[in-house]
Amino acid sequence: MHVGFIGLGHMGSGMAHNLLRAGHDVIVYNRSHGKAEALASAGARIAADVAEVCRNEVVITMLADDEAVTAVTFGDRKMIAALGKNAVHISMSTISVALSDRLAEVHRQAGQVYVAAPVFGRPEAAAAAQLFIIAAGDAHAVQRCQPLFDAMGQKTFVAAATPSAANLVKLSGNFMLGAVIESLGEAFALIRKSGVDPHRYLEILTGTLFSAPIYKTYGTLIADEKYQPAGFKMSLGLKDIRLALAVADAHSVPMPLASLVHDHFLAGVARGHGDSDWCRLAELSARNAGL
Ligand code: NAP
Repeated sequence: MHVGFIGLGHMGSGMAHNLLRAGHDVIVYNRSHGKAEALASAGARIAADVAEVCRNEVVITMLADDEAVTAVTFGDRKMIAALGKNAVHISMSTISVALSDRLAEVHRQAGQVYVAAPVFGRPEAAAAAQLFIIAAGDAHAVQRCQPLFDAMGQKTFVAAATPSAANLVKLSGNFMLGAVIESLGEAFALIRKSGVDPHRYLEILTGTLFSAPIYKTYGTLIADEKYQPAGFKMSLGLKDIRLALAVADAHSVPMPLASLVHDHFLAGVARGHGDSDWCRLAELSARNAGL
């Protein structure tokens, strides 16, 4: 397929590489130009601006947040203005339910198609085409995108016909990831302060009842105290918990644990750790324990 790709950060660069590997014709755009050049050697064409990327049947965005997606979508020579009729925008960033609903409406009014397809999996999974893709939108449109999902992920789950349902599922999942990181941080603080070897502890945890990938991945990073380079930045983690709380508020759903996790991420970012991996949250529990 002829695919445009916007956003070549930690996640997007691996995903675009995998589209090229699968034989798709890919044209890329990134706000900072250096990242796009790295893909040229793999066969990607580099677009001068957003409008040039949009001369394709499908355009994927994998950008930081609502602000970034808004910046490439609305305005002169941006996505809504530049995409052709029946062209598909696949929005794979973790964005708000409200923005996803707005994108669905404006693309519909412009005669374009909008599919939300946020992902589970860190940059290593993106590079290895092992993402879990949560897609939502018109069934025919999702089906049209399936060859691209197959190139980037290990499995696609279709959440619903309303695109923002996928964003809601993703945000609820990231709330749960944040809560697991918080609990691991508290448990490791206790273990360390009590003099038990954290790596031995991790081996016991993940070898018994806590064998899920999330405990292995984050447990290892916390046991190693390896928070740089960030696979997923704490500033983005804070953004996701904030978005989960916004939709919870809109639906009058109290989420006291999410509020606590939000405040702890906020404290981590306030301490200057916004660019560290979000599992640096564990350091906060360690410091509170006097470690
Ligand atoms: P990242 O490395 O920080 O990359 C962010 C991308 O957004 C870069 O291409 C950046 O361009 C672009 N960008 C930021 N602000 C912009 C703006 N105002 N206008 C245009 N472009 C802008 O982030 P990432 O880790 O790849 O994450 C991308 C998305 O995937 C986020 O929504 C994140 O929540 C989600 N996600 C991440 C992970 C993970 O583990 N990392 C896992 C699942 C989902 P520049 O290069 O110019 O800064």
